[in-house]
Amino acid sequence: MEEKTVKVLIIGSGPAGYTAGIYSSRANLNPVIYEGNQPGGQLTQTTEIENFPGYPEGVQGPEMMDQIRQQALRFGAEIVSKTIAEVDFSKRPFRCVDEDGNAIYAETVIVSTGASAKYLGLADEEKYRGLGVSACATCDGFFYRKKVVAVVGGGDTACEEALYLSTLARKVYLIVRKDYLRASEVMQKRVRDRENIEILFNTNTVGLFGEDGVEGAKVVEFKGTDKERVFDIEIDGFFLAIGHKPNTDIFRGQLDMDAEGYLLTAAPTTRTNVEGVFAAGDCADPIYRQAVSAAGTGCRAALDAERFLMEHS
Ligand code: NDP
Repeated sequence: MEEKTVKVLIIGSGPAGYTAGIYSSRANLNPVIYEGNQPGGQLTQTTEIENFPGYPEGVQGPEMMDQIRQQALRFGAEIVSKTIAEVDFSKRPFRCVDEDGNAIYAETVIVSTGASAKYLGLADEEKYRGLGVSACATCDGFFYRKKVVAVVGGGDTACEEALYLSTLARKVYLIVRKDYLRASEVMQKRVRDRENIEILFNTNTVGLFGEDGVEGAKVVEFKGTDKERVFDIEIDGFFLAIGHKPNTDIFRGQLDMDAEGYLLTAAPTTRTNVEGVFAAGDCADPIYRQAVSAAGTGCRAALDAERFLMEHS
């Protein structure tokens, strides 16, 4: 097995990780970015990004992530297409082990592992995963041309996914557990104005059915009240858009985190409870979760790591 020592190890490759790579490589710190099994992070699964500054006409998520990646490479960041499987933050340099068992000793670590889509927890989601259940409309929407699909959730992601799917599918149900959408006004309006989207408010999904794939969902309206109504909707695809869970399991017991697993940092810095370990992006952000805010914290983490290395050299 190989071993090497680096000044800055960046774990994760969304806007936070790549931006940390740009800053720390420009500071001659020769960062190594482990980009994990979804290089570019969640934005590689989205369509158009309209709110990242500098793109007045919008930009496709994968294209923007590739550009930020190229920018990190241009200044000498090393990018490794593997995941870090294990870390030991008990002493410096920190010993981190990749998926193949190779050890990397890092003087500082920037954690930017992002977050992953949540599922409802129904056994049927497992049963039909890849057979009609998806958490990524842009990845799988193509398979549902002229079909009927459902999207679960009432936030911006759910609205965005529903709108995207409505351009492909014949009909889209938006299944919302409350009696209102949490999404921004502009997204709500777009959804309401789209003829082939039907919003089912006060509705929860309790199961899926179908022979070789999803053919329908069993849903309950006004669950637990005297107006409760259980009925089936016929669908070919079932898309989850109910938020995200931070990818921080490998840091449990070493880095302080909140009840949901979001890493805690000493605001306004990106310092975690372990000196020399910094956190950036969605893994430490339960509130804003935007590409631009993730990129911002990636910059801050790189500057924090640089300062730390100056003070400890
Ligand atoms: P949110 O947390 O904002 O919304 C999650 C939605 O899923 C809510 O409607 C929530 O319902 C619902 N939900 C959660 N758990 C369940 C469950 N078990 N069963 C049924 N429904 C459930 O997540 P998003 O991913 O939509 O957005 C995250 C952040 O990213 C937000 O800040 C958002 O504004 C931002 N964003 C911005 C975009 C843009 O500007 N273009 C695009 C996408 C995201 P309830 O309301 O009842 O809690």
